[in-house]
Order: sequence, then structure tokens, then C-alpha cells
Amino acid sequence: MQYADTAFAVKSGSLGSDGCFQLNCAGTNNERLTMDISGTTKLIGILGHPVAHTISPQMHNAAFKAMGLDICYIPLEVHPDALKDAIAGIKAMGFLGANITIPHKVEAAKLMDRLEGIAAITGAVNTIVNESGSLIGHNTDGVGFIRSLEETVDIDFQAAEPMIIGAGGAARSIAVALAEKHVKRVTILNRTRERSETLTVLLAKAFPDLPVEILTFEDDLKGPILSSNLVINATSLGLKSNLKMPPVPVDRLTKDHVVCDIVYTQTQETKFLTAARGKGATTLGGLGMLLHQGAAAIQLWTGVEPPIDVMRGAIESKRTDNPADSQKAAADWRDPGNEGSH
Ligand code: NAP
Repeated sequence: MQYADTAFAVKSGSLGSDGCFQLNCAGTNNERLTMDISGTTKLIGILGHPVAHTISPQMHNAAFKAMGLDICYIPLEVHPDALKDAIAGIKAMGFLGANITIPHKVEAAKLMDRLEGIAAITGAVNTIVNESGSLIGHNTDGVGFIRSLEETVDIDFQAAEPMIIGAGGAARSIAVALAEKHVKRVTILNRTRERSETLTVLLAKAFPDLPVEILTFEDDLKGPILSSNLVINATSLGLKSNLKMPPVPVDRLTKDHVVCDIVYTQTQETKFLTAARGKGATTLGGLGMLLHQGAAAIQLWTGVEPPIDVMRGAIESKRTDNPADSQKAAADWRDPGNEGSH
């Protein structure tokens, strides 16, 4: 039996000796993960547009298999016009829950029965839990970012002065998570000033004592980037092409900066990180955040702590970049360029 080829396409199936239908599912590099689908299998979907780039199915299905849980995680390409129906479908079809990815996080939040934690502050949802027909919206992006950062660098949050590039759903969650860690101040740099203002209002409500500065790419960014010791690209620049990067003066970065790009790429690191590393900065890609936001979501769906190493292994097996190539690219990097389109 053959099915359509998607990011995590069902390639073929057969009836196992126990009567369960066994699906052979392929990831983006055609690795196979055999799953037993029965009449009691529970479903979790990831709703996005596009969704084909996601490696969440590989990561989550590897975890559920290792945990011995009868759960299958599937990609669901959902056009914005169909989001309301798709969310209703989660209830109607008794999904355990869902992940929400670009560009639906804010709109999905409006369709929840209740919002909790960071989702309630930001109005952006990345995880839905179906609690007996009530959809509860959570956001695990922020905690995923913090855990990934803590895993990589020894950070004193109270001395951190982060510059967050972007003001979308992910940027909002990261800003709130950093505010919860009592960072000294936050700079928000975004193409659209109104979106930064919305984020500032959210932050002011929840964290009235936190100093927040708003900048756009038209401002002189040399001083602000120099005085921010933690620079985070939370825009989607670099998602479609790892050669795109936010238009910031990367030549002002130093070895004292920690630079993060939450865009995760399976082939090569983003140009932004290569450039930052070329200036001596400590760099952090988006895979750690992906891992930890996913682990936090599994905890919400199942109440059980997932096997981080299994999930990390599933992600790492998808990486095809050669560190030697990345080092050469960093050494070769000269001109920050300005590939971010406005
Ligand atoms: P979003 O809500 O759509 O926000 C997109 C952001 O990118 C906005 O700030 C937008 O600026 C900016 N942007 C888009 N195109 C731009 C351009 N050409 N020039 C300058 N700025 C531009 O998306 P999101 O949910 O926050 O996700 C953002 C990125 O983070 C995505 O690539 C996503 O894959 C990644 N992400 C990664 C993880 C992880 O676990 N590693 C988790 C969540 C998200 P405007 O406001 O001006 O439009």
C-alpha cells in the first residue's frame, strides 16, 4: 500500500502478527521508523503552513516509541483559512493534542477554551492539550529556549541584557521567559514597530519593572548590539534559505556575546550564526530549543518526562552538516551583507 510523500510520509503498511497495522514512516532523509497503529492509537498533530520542513514528527514518534506509548504524531498542513476548522477537528476527532507552528500561534490562541502560563501572557500557543473536549493552550517555546541556553552557556540571567530580533509568536515567548528569569532589560528589534509595541504592552502588564527598548532596522544599531550581551534572532529569516539573515551590524559582535538563532536548519547553520562565530561570539542554533520545547509538550500531553537523549538522537540523525564546512564558512565570512528583505 503506498501513500503520498510528505515530510513524515507514510510509505507503506502491512498487517503485523499481532493484528496491528504497522506503518513504515519516513523522515526527510528517508529513515524508517516502524509504528504499530491500532484501533486505540491516539493522535497528536502539528499544524503549520508550511509544515514540510518540520522534524518534530521524527523527534516525538521516537520518544513515544521509547516510552512504550500508543501515540502517533503527524504533520498537518493547514492553510490559515482552514485553521478554525482544523482546531475544531482536534476536538471532534479526539486528538490527544497538537503542536502549533508558523504562522498559526496567535490565531490558534484565540480558539482555545483556556490559556495557561506563558500562552496566557503572550496570546500565542504552540501546544494544545485536549482535556476531555476542552482545548487548553500552552506555550513551551520560552522554556525550551531557556533550557537550551542553560545547557550551552553558564549564564547569569540577572546580568543579561538581551536583544530579541523579532516580535512574532516565538519572540514573545522568549521575551516572557527571559523576563521571568529577571533579566536586566530587554531590547526588541523588529521590522514592524507596531508588533514590538504590542509585545511591550504585554511585557509591561506582566513585568511592570522591566525596562524595554524598541528599535527597528532603520535605527543605528551599532551601540545597542554592542551593549546587548545576548542577541537572539527570533525572526523567520533563515528558515527558507540559511543565507538570509537579519540586517544588523554583525561586525560589532565580540567574544563576549552569546548569539542565538532559533531558526533550525538541518543542513548548514544559518548565515547569522556563521557570521557571529566568525567574530568570536558563542553561538547557539535552534535545535536545542526545538528539543526542549518538544520535551515540555510531551510532559503536558502525557504527564511523563520523556527520554531527552532519544529525542536528541532523533534530531541529530537528521543533521547533515559538516562542522569542518561550518568552520571554513566562519573563517571565510567577511561582509555582514543585508539579505533581510523588508
Ligand atoms: P511569526 O510569528 O510569523 O513571526 C515572524 C517574525 O519574523 C516577525 O518578527 C517578523 O517581522 C519577522 N520577519 C519575517 N520576515 C522578515 C523579513 N523579511 N525581514 C525582517 N523580519 C522578518 O513566527 P514565529 O512563530 O515567531 O517563528 C519565528 C521563527 O522561529 C520561525 O523561523 C520558526 O521556525 C522559528 N521557531 C523555532 C523554534 C525552535 O524550537 N527552534 C520554536 C519556535 C519558532 P514583522 O513583525 O515585521 O512581520
